[in-house]
Amino acid sequence: MTLFPDLVDTVLGESIVGRARRAGHIVIKTHNIRDYSEDKHRRVDDTPYGGGRGMVMMAPPIYNCYMAVLDEAAAERGGLSRRVIYMSPKGRILNQNIARELAAYDHLIILCGHYEGVDQRIIDEIVDEEISIGDFVLTGGELPACILVDCVARLAEGVLPAEECHLDESFTDGLLEYPHYTRPYEFHGVKVPDVLISGHHENIEKWRRDEAFRLTAERRPNLLGKEDGS
Ligand code: SAM
Repeated sequence: MTLFPDLVDTVLGESIVGRARRAGHIVIKTHNIRDYSEDKHRRVDDTPYGGGRGMVMMAPPIYNCYMAVLDEAAAERGGLSRRVIYMSPKGRILNQNIARELAAYDHLIILCGHYEGVDQRIIDEIVDEEISIGDFVLTGGELPACILVDCVARLAEGVLPAEECHLDESFTDGLLEYPHYTRPYEFHGVKVPDVLISGHHENIEKWRRDEAFRLTAERRPNLLGKEDGS
């Protein structure tokens, strides 16, 4: 649910997610909140009670849009598991565990805010959870929603070519991923590490594991339960 559906459709129409949509592995629909305005000028925002700068998105168009989404979902898929999310800098900060939690739902409804945000009453009434993509403020919830959808969608069956694609990746086992190399063998005088061309699978696995630990200890010691890189 957004005021800028084209922005979302453009971002999520490309590359792996776009292909997965076309292949029917995932369904992503955008709903323009403005289409549900009760105002003849299609207004969706108003000045804040109590004064102050900026505009606040009004509850009724969002509520009408939400009810239309529910009706559509009921007609198409029936009583599947569902979670309603508001993209918000005040929410739980997105990480791979949260993406995994959300991937377990059949249907995610995502509300994108704009301006100063949305009327608190609509959050209280329809939203299960607020999710942030980090401690910074963007102009709208569309890019955060695309980030959330991208990282949840790639966990859905069929989206990536093989399950291993995401089983190996950063954060999956609590570690950052090991470095990758491909052809050419030598680039600007730097050769690929010997072990990777040794053909010795056990040694390659050990090297990758060691590198993953080394990188994690150096860059994200908190993932290893340490405060610093010691
Ligand atoms: N006044 C709000 C505040 O200070 O918390 C910020 C509103 S922001 C300008 C407009 C919209 O962008 C928000 O309603 C939210 O949907 C989205 N947004 C901005 N930063 C975000 C973030 N870090 N994570 C998720 N959504 C964000």
